[in-house]
Amino acid sequence: MSAPLPIEHAASWYASSANASPERPSLSGEVSCDVCVVGAGFTGISAALHLAEQGLKVMVLEAARVGYGASGRNGGQIVNSYSRDMDVIEERFGAQTARALGDMAFEGNSIIRERIVRYGIDCDLREGNLFAACNTRQMKACASTRHCGSATAIPVSSCWKATPISVKSAPKAM
Ligand SMILES: Cc1cc2nc3c(=O)[nH]c(=O)nc-3n(C[C@H](O)[C@H](O)[C@H](O)COP(=O)(O)OP(=O)(O)OC[C@H]3O[C@@H](n4cnc5c(N)ncnc54)[C@H](O)[C@@H]3O)c2cc1C
Repeated sequence: MSAPLPIEHAASWYASSANASPERPSLSGEVSCDVCVVGAGFTGISAALHLAEQGLKVMVLEAARVGYGASGRNGGQIVNSYSRDMDVIEERFGAQTARALGDMAFEGNSIIRERIVRYGIDCDLREGNLFAACNTRQMKACASTRHCGSATAIPVSSCWKATPISVKSAPKAM
């Protein structure tokens, strides 16, 4: 097998604090497999693992390094949410779709936790989420658990009332 790619992760707190991971060799020669997954981020690795668990021979091709893209640069939080609040999704696509998406988010959460246990993944998992509100409007949204999805009706475990701060240009609710 040839030497590992010289491509390094982008310099970040995440890269410098990451647990050690094995170097992967470049592909050489001809290989055959049942499924070839392109891209070793969360999506590709998760798909490859699902397929391998079904007994298929899977190869993952990555242009740089495992976790080189968004997966190696994100905040690492299992947030159970999308870039739009569930009520926005519900309004736009209907309750059924919103519920399906909400369920999918929570199913993904369970899959991550199950895999961490099953494969003994050394990923420093810490339990708990913090939803922070920067203004009164966001506080109201937090208090009514909208960020967790009215469609899924899954309650927030705790919601603390913070003193609203005054900001000229309030950030949009995530
Ligand atoms: C700054 C930031 C913070 C985030 N924070 C969070 C968070 O806290 N919680 C959360 O749940 N989500 C978060 N996200 C979102 C999350 O990181 C992404 O949704 C997720 O990582 C996407 O994974 P992916 O596998 O689809 O893509 P990527 O991780 O980007 O993987 C794609 C991979 O494919 C490779 N590739 C591309 N083209 C080719 C090719 N032609 N041949 C071979 N390989 C190729 C790339 O090198 C890369 O490694 C964050 C995202 C960002 C950017």
